[in-house]
Amino acid sequence: MRDSHCEWRCKAITPIWTGDAYRKGDRLIPSGLLGSVRWWFEVLVRGMGGSACDPTDSDSRCPDKHGNRCVVCELFGCTGWARKLQFKIMDGNGQPVQAAIVKDQEFIFHFTPLRPIRDEEWTLLDLTLRLIADYGAIGGRTVLKPSDEKHREDMPQHRDYGLIEITSRPDIKAEEEQLRSYVKQDHWRNVDHGDFAWASLDNFWCINGRHLARQNKDDSDFNRVVGRDERKTCKSCGGVHDPPNKCPKNKRYPHRHSEDLISKNPTNQWLAGRQQESKKVFSFKHPQRTFGFVKPGVIKFDEMKKRLRGAWPHLKDDELRQGSDILKSFIRSSGGTP
Ligand SMILES: [Zn+2]
Ligand SMILES: [Zn+2]
Repeated sequence: MRDSHCEWRCKAITPIWTGDAYRKGDRLIPSGLLGSVRWWFEVLVRGMGGSACDPTDSDSRCPDKHGNRCVVCELFGCTGWARKLQFKIMDGNGQPVQAAIVKDQEFIFHFTPLRPIRDEEWTLLDLTLRLIADYGAIGGRTVLKPSDEKHREDMPQHRDYGLIEITSRPDIKAEEEQLRSYVKQDHWRNVDHGDFAWASLDNFWCINGRHLARQNKDDSDFNRVVGRDERKTCKSCGGVHDPPNKCPKNKRYPHRHSEDLISKNPTNQWLAGRQQESKKVFSFKHPQRTFGFVKPGVIKFDEMKKRLRGAWPHLKDDELRQGSDILKSFIRSSGGTP
């Protein structure tokens, strides 16, 4: 058991969006990032056969009526149970980061135990951060919650946020069976994953080296993949009004064709994300990365590949990495700085 702090040194490959954390001063900067780390930790735990509540869902969050909590709340805290870790973002000189994290900036995820933390918990945290760095993204806009700027999603400068690289990490070993049995221990709360069961590493996929984007006002291979109308044109006048411009015809912010689905089938609805729901495909241009989720009963990996081949006809089968394979490769290569 480690009782001193642990650090993951990182470099921001893109700026990191910390969402509304800035509004209330620098003290809150880490909370959006910690929320994002927690979200990926939940994905990992569900993918290893464990239970993880969704703390943003009042019906599912811990503790349950018997006072039990899930393995994620055990580390990150919930009502009636304080978190076991203190979380700080430091700059390269060990000072707390006071402002937005910009491209190429070095920073440190700094975790200090407030109470004893088990080896398995450190390992899960390490795997979570590696998952974010090598296959996911971090930050307010990428915690897969509804965007508050829907009409700006097409703006290129709003797209690439939250890609990081780990430059050094603690020497933490991982043993898969030990981790699986830890997350499945009987005393953890058994959560009905219901609407968020899809948010599991079992359903995750990532392709590094390719991205989806809009080609012109009529074509967007991102929209094609998630089943939205590809046109960015205004539904009132047929023109294109980039934010913050309003439609000259009705003097309002434009409603675009791209807000509509090509057809309202459950797969398109789920991938594109209905109101108050996240989309399930994310794509980054610099560097190129596209990741997302499938959902049993709605869309399988093979069907997802078929959709992606609509954008990338030459996509090879092994370019798409599935979460379960990613986990295995991490565990094989565990132990110290890569
Ligand atoms: Zn919980
Ligand atoms: Zn218009």
